[in-house]
Amino acid sequence: MQVVWGAQTDRGRVREINEDAFLTDPPLFVVADGMGGYESGEIASAAVVAQFAGAGPRDVTPEWITECLGIANRRIREGAGGGTTATGAALVERDGRPYWLVFNIGDSRVYLSDGSDLRQISVDHSVVQELVDAGKITPERARTHPERHIVTRAVGTAADPRPDFWLVPRELGDRLLLCSDGVTGELDDAAIADALRQPGSAQAVAERIAAGALRAGGRDNITCVVIDVRPSDGESTPVGGEQDRDDTRPRTRGAPG
Ligand code: MN
Repeated sequence: MQVVWGAQTDRGRVREINEDAFLTDPPLFVVADGMGGYESGEIASAAVVAQFAGAGPRDVTPEWITECLGIANRRIREGAGGGTTATGAALVERDGRPYWLVFNIGDSRVYLSDGSDLRQISVDHSVVQELVDAGKITPERARTHPERHIVTRAVGTAADPRPDFWLVPRELGDRLLLCSDGVTGELDDAAIADALRQPGSAQAVAERIAAGALRAGGRDNITCVVIDVRPSDGESTPVGGEQDRDDTRPRTRGAPG
């Protein structure tokens, strides 16, 4: 199997600056959504991406991810302040089998589409997620709740960032979406599922999702990274679809230098 990806970020229609950052640098893919006054949110999300960038081929482990987030956390707290979400997925192997190692702090998200069904892998650290978990509000109500933007965990806002981890089998036909809440605030799961089911390259799908979130209002910064697992040359293709403009270079937005 081979892995191809695309990414798109947009300031949106309301915010003056884009405080989101992303990294596409296999084996690691990251989205970070900065928060805080002045430019501190932008600096915080960039600090997370910079810490992960250029890690090179390595066996990504939860310990290494936690260590990187700890260093970024310290830099943010000793620097401009503010905070940032951090969510990501790494290509890993365990006992010779391929997996996604997914991590999350905050309310950016990782979704997995297998071509028909959509599954949200990450679980938000947010006030509304806690209300949903407690059975006090429905997920639908959470989308419009006045406290929907309040995160309960972030990088930079406490002494010790604590990510959650998931290990998910990685299979041919998988399409993974990493996105900031500027996407999920505008597009519900049905719209996201529909966008991920469409044919086209990962880059085309990332651009389509960002355009959809903009059309729906674009009230926040919008960032999405789309990762496709498809057959290597010579393997049979399970699904059709154009494969134009696939991006195979490391890309980053937000990391200075
Ligand atoms: Mn946001």
